[in-house]
Amino acid sequence: MTICVSALSTTARADNFVYNDERFADLQMLRYQVHGFDQLTLKQKTLVYYLSEAALCGRDILWDQNGRYNLRIRQLLESVYTDFKGNRSSKDFQAFTTYLKRVWFSNGIHHHYGCEKFQPAFSEQFLRKALKDVDPKKLPFDIEELFPIIFDPTVMPKRTNQADGEDLVLTSAANYYGAGVTQAEAEDFYNRMKEADTDPAHPIMFGMNSRLVKEDGELREKVWRSGGLYGAAIDRIIYWLQKAQTVAENDKQKAVIGKLIEYYRTGDLKTFDAYTILWVEETEGQVDFTNGFTESYGDPLGMKASWEGLANIKDMEATSRTEKLSANAQWFEDHSPVDARFKKENCKGITAKVIVGAMLGGDLYPSTAIGINLPNSNWVRAEHGSKSVTIGNFTDAYNKAARGNGFQEEFVIDEATRELINQYGDACDDLHTDLHECLGHGSGKLLPGVDADSLKAYGSTIEEARADLFGLYYVADQKLTDLGLTPNGEAYKSQYYTYMMNGLMTQLVRIEPGNSIEEAHMRNRALIAHWVLEHAAAQAQPAVELVKREGKTYVKINDYPTLRNLFGELLAEIQRIKSEGDFEAARQLIERYAVRVDKDLHNEVLKRYRALNLAPYKGFINPEYIIERDDKGTITDIRVTYGEAYDHQMLRYSRDYRTLPYVNE
Ligand code: ZN
Repeated sequence: MTICVSALSTTARADNFVYNDERFADLQMLRYQVHGFDQLTLKQKTLVYYLSEAALCGRDILWDQNGRYNLRIRQLLESVYTDFKGNRSSKDFQAFTTYLKRVWFSNGIHHHYGCEKFQPAFSEQFLRKALKDVDPKKLPFDIEELFPIIFDPTVMPKRTNQADGEDLVLTSAANYYGAGVTQAEAEDFYNRMKEADTDPAHPIMFGMNSRLVKEDGELREKVWRSGGLYGAAIDRIIYWLQKAQTVAENDKQKAVIGKLIEYYRTGDLKTFDAYTILWVEETEGQVDFTNGFTESYGDPLGMKASWEGLANIKDMEATSRTEKLSANAQWFEDHSPVDARFKKENCKGITAKVIVGAMLGGDLYPSTAIGINLPNSNWVRAEHGSKSVTIGNFTDAYNKAARGNGFQEEFVIDEATRELINQYGDACDDLHTDLHECLGHGSGKLLPGVDADSLKAYGSTIEEARADLFGLYYVADQKLTDLGLTPNGEAYKSQYYTYMMNGLMTQLVRIEPGNSIEEAHMRNRALIAHWVLEHAAAQAQPAVELVKREGKTYVKINDYPTLRNLFGELLAEIQRIKSEGDFEAARQLIERYAVRVDKDLHNEVLKRYRALNLAPYKGFINPEYIIERDDKGTITDIRVTYGEAYDHQMLRYSRDYRTLPYVNE
C-alpha cells in the first residue's frame, strides 16, 4: 500500500523532534517517536507495519460503538470540511472546524473523557447552507435525522451515563444495547447466562463482543465477528493479521495471531480466552500487539468491550527496570498491608516490560493509555498471569511537551517541593505506573465463590484504586532503593505530592463547571486523595492538608511517612472490598469521596488553570510507515516518518480505513 506523506513534515531526529502540535478546544495534539524502529530487522519492521495496519482497520467499529449515528455524522462533517466553498476563515467555519476536530478526537460526538455531548458553536442554518456545497451522492443516508443528534442538547446527552439510580442503559448513547433494552433486562439476561454456565471456574467474558438487542420482544446478541455485526471491518483486520503471521518472529507468536484470527472468525469467547492465554505466554518476541475488543469502560454496565489496536516494540533497556519488580512480585505481595486472606500465595506469570508504541488504533487513538495490563479475565489472570506494559515513548512525550509550561509554578506549594518534583518526578511517575501495572493489578485474590462482577458499575474504580494504592504504598519502600529503582529515601515524596495535588485539585481542570466526576481513573484518584485528606484531618498534626495562601489553595504535606501509612490502610480496605465483593461498601466509598466536586475549589482551580492557557487533554498524531519496494514489489525497507497534519491524517484514515456501512443494524 502506498502511504502518502504530508507536506508538513518535521524531522525525525531526536534533537529537534517537535512534540507539541496543534491545539483546539481543550485538546493538545502531541507526537511520539518510535524509538528503536530503525534498529529492527526488515522482517520485524514488516511485522510492525502489518500489525499497524491491523490496528487502524478497526477504527469504524469504535465509531459505531460510541454511538449509532457517528459514522454518518463523520461523513457529513468531513464532506462539508473538504467541499465548503464559502469563507473558510469566517467565525462559523472556524467553529465548525473545531467541532469536527473534537469529534475526530473523541471518535464520536461525545467527549472522550467526560462523555457529555459537544454543543456546536455554529448554527444549524450554517450547516444546512454549507451542505449545499456537498455532492448529495456523498451522503447516501437520511441527513434530516442527524440535525437533532448534533444540535439538540437533550438528545443523546451522555455517551456513558454512570449516575447512580438512573437506568444506565437507556440513558447512555453508546451503541452497546439496541433500542428499548433496559438496564434490568440486560442485567437479567447476563445473570441468567452466568447461572447456566457449565464451567463457572473458567467463566467467559459474558457479553463482551456483542450488541444486545430486542427483536420481536426477545433479547438476543448480535456478535461482532466475521460474517456478523462489524464483519466487514473484522475481515480487513484478519487480512493484515494473516500477513503478520507470515513474518512472525517465532512459532508462539504465529500461534497467537492464528488464534486471534480464529476468534475473529467465530466470535467464540472460549476461543478468545484461549487466544489471551497464548498471548500472555508469548514473551520472546520483540514486537507485540493488542488488537480486539478489550476495555469495557464505555459500557455503563462494564461488560461490553470497545475495539482497540496497538502495535509495539519492546524497549530493551527500560524493561530491565520492570523485570526487577516482577522478579520480586511475591515479596511485594507478602509484605503488603492487606489481610493475609486476600493475598495470592503464588504470584506467577507477571511479565513486565516497557514498550515503544508504534501505532495507535481504535479506543487508544488519539488519546492513549500510558500503561496496559491484560487480559481482563480474572481466571486467566489467576491461572496464567497477565502481561503488563508501560508505554515509555508516550510518557516521554508527555513529559517533554509539559516542560516549562508554568503549571508547577502555579499549583505546587513551594520551591523546595518543586525542586523535589523536578529532580525525581519523571522517574517516580514511571515507577508508580510500573508498580500499578506490573504488581498492583496482578496482586490479591477474590475469596472463593465471589463473583468477579459483584461491584458492578463501581468495579473499574475500585480496581484502579487498588492498583494505584499498591503503587503509592510501595514507591516509598526501602526495597525499591535496595533494588536500585529509586535513588534514595526522598524521591518518593515527589510522587506523593503530585498524586495528592492531582487527586484533590488539578485533575478538576478536566471537569466542566457543575459536573461531577464520572471516569473510573479520575474517580479512583479523587477517592484516594479525599479519603486520605479526611483521615489526616482527624490527626493531631495532619499528615496532609489544604492550605490557603494569598487566596490560593495548595496541598501541604507535613508528614510523608504517615501519609504512606494512610495509603496502606486504604489499600487494605479496598482489597477487602474487592476480595469479598462488598458492593455496598464500594458504593458508599465512591459516592462519598470520588464523585462530588467542591464548587468553590473547582472554580478556583479552573480560573488558575485557564490563566496558564494550557490544554487539559492530550492526544497523539500517529507516525506513518513508508514502504520501499524493489521492481518485483518486494519490500526492501520501511521507514517511519512524522509530521502529517492532524486533519490530513483523519481524512486519510476515513478514506483508507473506511470499513463499515454508515448504518450497522
Ligand atoms: Zn490500571
